[in-house]
Amino acid sequence: MKAAQYIKAGEIAYRDIPDTPLGDDEIRIKVAYCGICGTDLHIFKGHMDARVRAPQAVGHEISGIVAEVGKNVSDFRINQKVTVRPLDNCGKCNTCEAGFTHICEKLRFLGIETAGGFAQYWTVPARLVHHLPETLPLKLAALVEPLAVACHDVRRAELKPGDKVIVNGGGPIGMLIALCARAAGGMVTISEINEKRLALAHSLGFETVNPLRTDLVAKIRSETGGSGADIVFEVSGSEAGAKVMTELARPRGTIVMVAIFAKPVPVDLHKFFWKELRMVGARVYEYEDYEKAIRLVADKALPLESLISSVFPLNQLQNAFEYLTASPDAMKVLIQCNEEIK
Ligand SMILES: [Zn+2]
Ligand SMILES: [Zn+2]
Repeated sequence: MKAAQYIKAGEIAYRDIPDTPLGDDEIRIKVAYCGICGTDLHIFKGHMDARVRAPQAVGHEISGIVAEVGKNVSDFRINQKVTVRPLDNCGKCNTCEAGFTHICEKLRFLGIETAGGFAQYWTVPARLVHHLPETLPLKLAALVEPLAVACHDVRRAELKPGDKVIVNGGGPIGMLIALCARAAGGMVTISEINEKRLALAHSLGFETVNPLRTDLVAKIRSETGGSGADIVFEVSGSEAGAKVMTELARPRGTIVMVAIFAKPVPVDLHKFFWKELRMVGARVYEYEDYEKAIRLVADKALPLESLISSVFPLNQLQNAFEYLTASPDAMKVLIQCNEEIK
């Protein structure tokens, strides 16, 4: 099969590689689309060489059809549409036993620690494969994985209809969180410094703020009788974002930590004490978040098409990474891995 393998920082090679052997409990998926995640871009830039065994195809945001099933797999048939929840947990640690398999202490992320979906075929454990409705376009289904992240974040927030919500950071995940939060009844404001992203958020009907031009804290306070927002999603990963989140939340408000901060940043803990704030971490997704994301895509409840910036063929993965690196405005970029399936 053809695969686009990560070789080293800045270098992808499109080449023939041998088929992976199919285990008894595994499914071989013919990949339709594989989205480029922020994590994949970090891999391309060489930031994650300690976790990625090169040469290896990465990628984990896929949609596709079943090409082959292992001997023990009973609930999947050839040609059924599927997606993958790429979290291979150990099933033995205390966290798995407690039911939190998505944050397993020995978690292996498929497509990072193992071969991934930037290839014509991807072979994965059947227990991580989700059925898709047969009418669902596979292009949109490639957004199920990042949408499941957003569903998980909104669930962790315990958002209630009517809640005032701030999303700090309007990239692909921030935008998906905003869409999910609005679908759950939240009144959402997106704070973002990139004007193109602000324009997109505005066109999707969100209230938007550029905190470099507008005093975000003053604005939110004036809109909430001086109190602040019920829920703040910190998605920017910036020091400014971490600084302002405790100001933005109302007394007893909730902060959801979505961004990946590579190193510690200052946080005003006095505000936590004074306002009795609650902060929850939110990492990846659980089974139910995937099922919820699949339902949202199938119901055409969200304008997901407008988040897809461009689609490249598999042999152009190198160009796709370079395009994303050079285009701070870009949202989701998809790689089409087999042209004949839709
Ligand atoms: Zn992802
Ligand atoms: Zn475990």
